[in-house]
Amino acid sequence: MLEYEELGKLLDYDAVKAFRERALNPEHPVARGTAQNPDIYFQGREAANPFYERVPDIVADYMKEISKLTGRDYKPFNYYGAEDAEDIIVAMGSVCDTIEETIDYLLSKGEKVGLIKVHLYRPFSSKYFFDVLPSTVKRIAVLDRTKEPGSVGEPLYLDVKNIFYGREFQPLIIGGRYGLGSKDTTPSQIIVVYKNLKSSEPKDRFTIGIVDDIGNTSLKEEDIVDVTPQGTIQCKFWGLGSDGTVGANKTAVKIIGDNTDLYAQAYFSYDSKKSGGSTISHLRFGKKPIKSPYLIYSADYIACHNSSFVNHFDLLKGIKKKGTFVLNCPWNKEELEEKLPASLKRAIAENQVEFYTIDAMKIASEIGLGNRINMIMQAAFFKLTNVIPIGDAIRYLKENIESLYGRKGEKIVEMNKMAVDRGIDSIVKIEVPSYWAQAEEEIREIKEVPDFVKNIQMPMARHEGDELPVSAFKGMEDGTYPLGTTSYEKRGIAPMVPQWQTEKCIQCNQCSFICPHAVIRPFLLDGEEKSKAPDTFETKKAVGKGLEGLEYRIQISPLDCTGCGNCADICPAPGKALVMVDAEEEIERQVDNWEFALTIREKDYLIDKGTVKNSQFARPLLEFSGACAGCGETAYVKLLTQLYGDRMMIANATGCSSIWGASAPSIAYSTTAEGRGPAWANSLFEDNAEYGLGMAIAVRQMRERLGQLMRQGLQMDFDEECKEAFKYWLDNVDDGEISKKASQRVLEVLKKHNHNDPVTNEILEKKDYLTKKSIWVIGGDGWAYDIGYGGVDQVLSTGEDINLLVLDTEIYSNTGGQSSKSTPTAAVAKFAAAGKRVRKKDLGLMAMSYGYVYVAQIALGANMNQAVKAIKEAESYKGPSLIICYAPCISHGIKSGMGTSVAQEKRAVESGYWHLYRYNPMLKEEGKNPFILDSKEPTSSFRSFLESEIRYSQIRNVFPDVADELFTQAEKHARERYEIYKRLAETNY
Ligand code: SF4
Ligand code: SF4
Ligand code: SF4
Ligand code: MG
Repeated sequence: MLEYEELGKLLDYDAVKAFRERALNPEHPVARGTAQNPDIYFQGREAANPFYERVPDIVADYMKEISKLTGRDYKPFNYYGAEDAEDIIVAMGSVCDTIEETIDYLLSKGEKVGLIKVHLYRPFSSKYFFDVLPSTVKRIAVLDRTKEPGSVGEPLYLDVKNIFYGREFQPLIIGGRYGLGSKDTTPSQIIVVYKNLKSSEPKDRFTIGIVDDIGNTSLKEEDIVDVTPQGTIQCKFWGLGSDGTVGANKTAVKIIGDNTDLYAQAYFSYDSKKSGGSTISHLRFGKKPIKSPYLIYSADYIACHNSSFVNHFDLLKGIKKKGTFVLNCPWNKEELEEKLPASLKRAIAENQVEFYTIDAMKIASEIGLGNRINMIMQAAFFKLTNVIPIGDAIRYLKENIESLYGRKGEKIVEMNKMAVDRGIDSIVKIEVPSYWAQAEEEIREIKEVPDFVKNIQMPMARHEGDELPVSAFKGMEDGTYPLGTTSYEKRGIAPMVPQWQTEKCIQCNQCSFICPHAVIRPFLLDGEEKSKAPDTFETKKAVGKGLEGLEYRIQISPLDCTGCGNCADICPAPGKALVMVDAEEEIERQVDNWEFALTIREKDYLIDKGTVKNSQFARPLLEFSGACAGCGETAYVKLLTQLYGDRMMIANATGCSSIWGASAPSIAYSTTAEGRGPAWANSLFEDNAEYGLGMAIAVRQMRERLGQLMRQGLQMDFDEECKEAFKYWLDNVDDGEISKKASQRVLEVLKKHNHNDPVTNEILEKKDYLTKKSIWVIGGDGWAYDIGYGGVDQVLSTGEDINLLVLDTEIYSNTGGQSSKSTPTAAVAKFAAAGKRVRKKDLGLMAMSYGYVYVAQIALGANMNQAVKAIKEAESYKGPSLIICYAPCISHGIKSGMGTSVAQEKRAVESGYWHLYRYNPMLKEEGKNPFILDSKEPTSSFRSFLESEIRYSQIRNVFPDVADELFTQAEKHARERYEIYKRLAETNY
């Protein structure tokens, strides 16, 4: 690390001064950024050439100075490797470390290889390149971490080739691609790059790190070679998302880095599930500097912190002979025989693995740490790896506990210290029987699943996506993925799931309405279905208009439940008709019942879907997303899919909603029995609203053309039946539900009469546009309030029939909680660590100023009816609509937990923190006030609401002197908003 003072000495202060003196200033005014025409622009650009030309020398001079300061040789290009190398690679960035490490290995085998590292890419200086190029070089491979489709080569490759043009010395120069999308680049891949260079016919424009069995660009990787310096200890940890494994490993690295002279490195790989996903930590320690910027493929130590993983992942892949494996599980020797899959037993026996178990869950619960096993597993790690003497390790761990938990009180400190001692004492060494080497898989019945699930989704779920060849994606070249794939995941991550108490249920369907994961649903059975139901499929007589003679049941899918507990929390039945029970037993009881429930015919046609209760009889076309347990965003979108899913198009801004909605291969959007469902695509923050506008305009054009054709048809010599159908369609063209029927009618009559004339042929050709589409632009506050606001505003201004839904978490949730313009006063967020000092923007009010935009603020946990009403009004309004939804998020730190996130929405409204309203421009036409305030005067304390969330309460710990002042400000700002709404609601029209 260079200190600022040292760097300061390098600065040319005269140049800085001259630069400052050129700054814009009315004391000596000039104009910059003038409009220039073809007559002079070009000359001006060329006039700057001499400055660019001088850059390489200036940079080189500074690099020299830096080299003096750091002792590291630093130049525009640096060479590493054999002085008499014949084969070299040219590359830039972190891959150079991997290449250097590989070179060390190859040099030790007597090979003549090298590397030119690019430090100054632009201006690209051939002078400095040739300065370091060994004269012995015969062949050069240039690696680019980019792909330029359609070009004759990637940029660095072309630069290198070009500087040799016209020179006498002409080595062989080839180019290759690596590391796209952060694909790991390993020494084994670098070895084949050198091998390829040396071969009689080197492959040009090659790839490494993948198997390209279509274009055959890939170089074939041979055995995994471990080139890390001797004495490096490499460790891998399998953990469950948010179980503390990653945090514990960060601490371990810090302890070792701070207290020993060992070098340490850590990488963490995750999947994109927000809850219940898996994490793999990769840690290296060693006496020599670690130049391995890639994951671990050859491990001395592997720990698995979750026993269910033994059935899901190839845990011991890459374990070294006689390596160590630690499994956190409650199993004794006999149970291990039964529970471990044959492949794992074989891997243990064949590699003579030292196998240990530890029942960390039991220890944690005995100590009072609940399910926090991280400290126990960390202690076991130090004990078994002996990276540092165990006595020292214990001391460091305990010191660390003091500083980590000191603030939380003596009891927590003591419990964690106890966890360290117990972790060390409770490791059980397992004697591995030799017959494990011959263990054979039981043949299990494999359920039929679609090809995509079998060939892509399942390997990816096993963390084997890296091994999928290019051909696996044949037919998906444009990035198209099938819907409904989350229903195959059956993750079983909930420790507790709800159990339905038949008698107590009042059939309100609220549990289904609010379930963030679409796991709990009401089903209606007719007599025939009831007769086929399993015995445990208890039902009761359905109540409600239109449901006469049917049976009712609430069914959950226990393997898809996250155990968030919101359903049981809000169930309004006296004595609660839902209780949270241990998942394991309930899984056994309910899995088949769920399968049966899916065979029950949907009966939403019997009722009007537009009420809280009835909407839940429609199948949700957003299910089992990977959102955090209890996420406040998903239920809104799920409701949309129940109301409009079969004719819905979604433009989704990047953010949490794009991650839980459609992270390949887990697509939570799904289809009806007829195969219809939301058509979904994702765009950037910057242009998502415009992206949706494009969809809306395209659909409108098509439907306007259909209208023309129908009108033409009415003038033609068609039979009456057709004309009636056309007329019915034209009369209801903008009514979503009726247009479905009208479209079906048009198709029926056209099929029956088969005119085969240009008009009806074109109608048939455009039949996908007959039904009115429901167009939704969805995203978070980071999109709508901040980065995409310009687009949101533009789209609202166009008057187009389009719906914008903002999932307002008041923070950038997906990127770790940065403050947005939606973050209210006093909230602590990244970039607002001392509490936000300015108020939340009133997006709704800004949109209302157009006068023709439908605007609503909703919070479904506070007022379900209002939410449904607003969504229905917005959707049917023939103009732009904006709905802002209050969405509790893990980043709020709700003190009563995410199992009360829905109830928290209610608290937000009751305390006057969030306001419910609707602004409906249609009412103006009736001479009424368009603004309806649905929130009453606050009935509970604003302050208590703030205190119920850590995002607010923590300001007390960090900045105690300003906390009260900020809280007062926050309340004042919320109150001011309410007063504005009240005045709007009271306006006379
Ligand atoms: Fe029944 Fe409770 Fe669900 Fe209402 S919330 S349907 S009462 S289980
Ligand atoms: Fe849905 Fe949560 Fe209830 Fe499970 S516990 S059914 S995920 S609300
Ligand atoms: Fe998790 Fe918050 Fe994102 Fe929901 S919005 S998935 S709770 S981070
Ligand atoms: Mg957000």
